[in-house]
Amino acid sequence: MSSETLERAARQMRAQDVDAVLVGPGADLRYLTGYHALPLTRLTLLVARADGEHVLVVPRLELPRAQAAGIPDSVRLVATEETEDPYAVVAGALHGLVAGRLAAGDRLWALFLLNLQQAVPNASWFPASVVTRELRMRKAPAEIDALRRAGQAIDRVQARVPALLRPGRTEVEVGRDIADAIVAEGHQEVNFVIVGSGPNGASPHHETSARVLQPGDGVVVDIGGTLDGYCSDCTRDYVVGAAPPGYAEAHTALEVAQAAACAAVRPGVTAETVDAAARDVLADAGYGEHFIHRTGHGIGLEEHEDPYIVAGNREVLEEGMAFSVEPGVYLPGRFGMRIEDIVVVTADGGERLNLGERAAVVV
Ligand code: ZN
Ligand code: ZN
Ligand code: ZN
Repeated sequence: MSSETLERAARQMRAQDVDAVLVGPGADLRYLTGYHALPLTRLTLLVARADGEHVLVVPRLELPRAQAAGIPDSVRLVATEETEDPYAVVAGALHGLVAGRLAAGDRLWALFLLNLQQAVPNASWFPASVVTRELRMRKAPAEIDALRRAGQAIDRVQARVPALLRPGRTEVEVGRDIADAIVAEGHQEVNFVIVGSGPNGASPHHETSARVLQPGDGVVVDIGGTLDGYCSDCTRDYVVGAAPPGYAEAHTALEVAQAAACAAVRPGVTAETVDAAARDVLADAGYGEHFIHRTGHGIGLEEHEDPYIVAGNREVLEEGMAFSVEPGVYLPGRFGMRIEDIVVVTADGGERLNLGERAAVVV
C-alpha cells in the first residue's frame, strides 16, 4: 500500500489544525493503511501524525496479520506484550503532542478513548471525521471501480430473487437463499438482507421473519454485501401474484420520484436538492407523509457514510462522491416499497451503479 493516502491525511490534519488522528479497527484504519484489523478487547491503534511520524500499535499476537497487510512504509509497527500498558506506548508515540489537538476515531470504543484521555490528560479531542470524512467522501477512480463491481454483483443477486419468492416460503427461507447468492455472486461478506413481505414492508429496516409469503403481497428486498472492501446496497420491489389495492399507483409515483432524484445529481448541487427532487414528486402524488426517511446515504468502505442526502444538508456535491438514492413509500398495515440505486457523481451528472429493473416485478 502506498503512503499517498496518509500524506493526504497529514495535509488535511494541517488544514484542520489537528496534530494527530488516532483510529482503531474499522473503515478509517483500512482507508489509511489497508489493514483489516480485528475489533479486539486489546488495543489496536494507528497514530497518524500531521508531521508524518506514524505509528501502528498492535497486540503482539496480531503482529503477523499486521505485517501481512502491507501497511505503508511510513508507518512504524509497534507490538505490545500482554503484560504491557498499550496506552503508555501510545503516549510514547505522541511524543511532543501530549498537549496536542488529537482526533479520535468516531467508532473507537469508549473504553479505549477514556483510557487514552487518561494517558494524555492535557490533550484536546476531536472526532477523526474532521479529517477522514473529507478524504473518504471523494472517491478515487479505483474506489469507484470497486463500488461498480459491487453494484454489478448485487444486481445479479436481485435478478435471482424472482425465482426465490414463492407463496408458502417464509421471509427467513428466502433471506437465507439471498445471503448465499450474495456470496455466490462475488461478495466476500453479506452485510444485510431485508425481505419485507406484505405489512412488514412498511417497516424500512425490517430484516426477515417467519411470515409466509402469500398471493397479494408486495415484497421489499433490500440487500448488500462487501466486495473487495467496498459495499453494495440495492433495493427492488416484487409482487406475489397480483398487487394489493393502491400498490400500482404508489409504485408508479415512486419510480418517477427515484428517477427525478437520480436526474438531479451533478456537481455543484447540494445534497438537499437531490432529497427534494424525490420528496416533491411523492408529496405531489399524495405520499409525502409516507416517505419517512432521508433519500440516501454515502457509501464506500462503510454502508452508511457521508454525504447524507437529506433536507438541511447544504454540502455541495462533487465529482467522485457516491451515495444511495432510495425513496420509499410505507403504508402501515398494508405494504411498503423502496427503489434504491447507488449513484456516483461524474464530471457533468450522475452514474447509476445499479441497473436492474426498477418496476415492481410480478412473481
Ligand atoms: Zn437504511
Ligand atoms: Zn439498502
Ligand atoms: Zn441504502
